[in-house]
Amino acid sequence: MDLRGMYLEELKELASKMGEPPYRGQQIFIWIHRRLALAVEEMTDLPLAFRDQLSSSHPLPPLKILESSTSALDNTLKLLLELPDGEKVECVLMEQGGRRTACLSSQAGCPLGCRFCATGQGGFRRNLTAGEMILQAVALLRKAREGDPKASLTNIVFMGMGEPLLNLEQVLRACRLFQHPKGWNISHRKITISTCGLVPQIIKLAEEKPPLELAVSLHATTDDIRSELMPINRQYPLKDVLEACRYYARVTGRRVTLEYALIKGVNDSRKDARRLGRLLKGMLAFVNLIPLNPVSGIPYQGVGEEKAKTFARWLTQEGIEVAVRRSRGRDIEAACGQLRARRERGEKY
Ligand code: SAH
Ligand code: SF4
Repeated sequence: MDLRGMYLEELKELASKMGEPPYRGQQIFIWIHRRLALAVEEMTDLPLAFRDQLSSSHPLPPLKILESSTSALDNTLKLLLELPDGEKVECVLMEQGGRRTACLSSQAGCPLGCRFCATGQGGFRRNLTAGEMILQAVALLRKAREGDPKASLTNIVFMGMGEPLLNLEQVLRACRLFQHPKGWNISHRKITISTCGLVPQIIKLAEEKPPLELAVSLHATTDDIRSELMPINRQYPLKDVLEACRYYARVTGRRVTLEYALIKGVNDSRKDARRLGRLLKGMLAFVNLIPLNPVSGIPYQGVGEEKAKTFARWLTQEGIEVAVRRSRGRDIEAACGQLRARRERGEKY
């Protein structure tokens, strides 16, 4: 296994197996997760012979950044990485009000085919490993440290490419690594995984209560519209998704965040706000409104800031807790999957 995806205990065991004292495992862990090492050769407090042995038995998969862009509007940083087998994944770093949030991918591509999503339109390639999720965070934080050597990540969201609940085991492994006090030390309240609404997996999460926050992509208030936008709705219709959310909130006592991308003329009417109010009545929920990020070749448009605020006001009148998120990095196509899509069309910055 990739050293980046291994727990501290596993690294200690590996060190022992290789004839070294277990604390070498902790040194490796700190090099990877604290000091953001890119190669075993950098781990200079390991004995040279052990370093040589480790770098041939367990080399760290290299970091290859294909593209890097920073938004002139809000400083959002977006990276396109190439993995050793040639797959491409995106990750984004956002800074706001003292928070530094990494938005990570859980899969190369996505099999769910949402109509407004560049990743969904590009098809599915494969699941990512926990090590590859850590690598994205390492890449983003190394960039941030170029400007601020003390920079650290405060929040992680799995809202990049892919459906985290289809790769739950590796995503949970990455989450536990991010939470480790000797490593990233990120609180479980600050790690969010987002799903398009896979009902059996939401129920499983409710029962297992892993330490993280759950967000569910709703995006519509009728099955007709949701099925048009998100084909998965034909399998798990709105009613079932919301019932699973209620169950999750009840069993865990945690609030569910519902994501709602405002699409002009599709889901942004006064009626939609009323229906959403009815659907969420009495539920421990919070709605995040995001104007849709336009994606090239896709027939949907976002709404303006004023409209988003109006829709938020309607929801407030329905008694729903709501926030409007700015769509960040619009000028660098920071919505999920857009960079890879453009690369595949052969366009350059
Ligand atoms: N597959 C998961 C997580 C990754 S997508 C999910 O669907 O929830 C993260 C979020 O970005 C989801 O809410 C998704 O609906 C949203 N999204 C995808 N394309 C978008 C776009 N063009 N504009 C705004 N949000 C988008
Ligand atoms: Fe997949 Fe999420 Fe994009 Fe839908 S929105 S295609 S589930 S990544």
